[in-house]
Amino acid sequence: MKCQRCGSEPFERFRGGMYCRECFAVKYEGAVESAVRRYRMIGENERVLAAVSGGKDSVAMLSVLEKLKKRFRFEFSSLFIDLGIGDYTRNSKRIVEDICKKLDIELHVVRLCDYGFTIDDVSGKTCSVCGNVKRYIMNRFARENGFDSVATGHCAEDILSNFLKNLYSGNIQWSEKQRPRLDGYDRMVTKIRPLYEMGERENILYVLSRGLPFVEDECPHAPSTIWKEMVYDIERRIPGFKISVLRNLARERREDSAEYRYCRICGEITSSDICQFCRNVARFSRNQ
Ligand code: SF4
Ligand code: ZN
Repeated sequence: MKCQRCGSEPFERFRGGMYCRECFAVKYEGAVESAVRRYRMIGENERVLAAVSGGKDSVAMLSVLEKLKKRFRFEFSSLFIDLGIGDYTRNSKRIVEDICKKLDIELHVVRLCDYGFTIDDVSGKTCSVCGNVKRYIMNRFARENGFDSVATGHCAEDILSNFLKNLYSGNIQWSEKQRPRLDGYDRMVTKIRPLYEMGERENILYVLSRGLPFVEDECPHAPSTIWKEMVYDIERRIPGFKISVLRNLARERREDSAEYRYCRICGEITSSDICQFCRNVARFSRNQ
């Protein structure tokens, strides 16, 4: 079988068709572009900060944003958060620096150790602390440096597995935040997810088709994949499940009625007196 678009050597299937490397990349980029348009993810002249970990998803996002920035007329830079997870972080940082150099993308680095601790200092619930740290730093860095939005590389399976997990735990409010574009308010910067409709397998194949490096090691703190396995299992039994739920989730427009206030220590938005990030700093800081 040849590439159905140009007749060259085949590389992989994409949504029903067989394509060569170049045509696979073009089809993939076209699908991301359609999602960006469908959900009005990026406004004209917006300054986007793309959070990149070096994994396949964020590398795919960087490469596509680079392709789309002229067409949608936005500017973008990238942010790597040095979480201090031993060799994993060192390796990831090196790869992110290589990619940004190759694609000529400005890279900012924020080190968690400058706040007094690293993820390796955290005991218990590591991913939950890490998630809080990343959200806090992305938002604060973006706002303090004049960015309009933060783009993350969440893929379809990330969004759906988080949705199921939050539904299971009763955190409905978190489920409602899993939208392709979440407009900012007060000190919260807008969040966008350009890979909202892209599967992780498509992301990895795209990165390979473009010949970009990515972090292949798994974080040593990586949690169980049970929720993602459930998403794959449901999709196998009900083909079209993923896209149907994603589009219904995106349609959800309930007002965020939760009250908020400002952290007594850092001034960021929080639901309590002291924000979770400052509580994490107080708990894990080495300078105590
Ligand atoms: Fe952070 Fe957990 Fe992801 Fe590792 S697996 S980077 S600890 S959220
Ligand atoms: Zn705080």
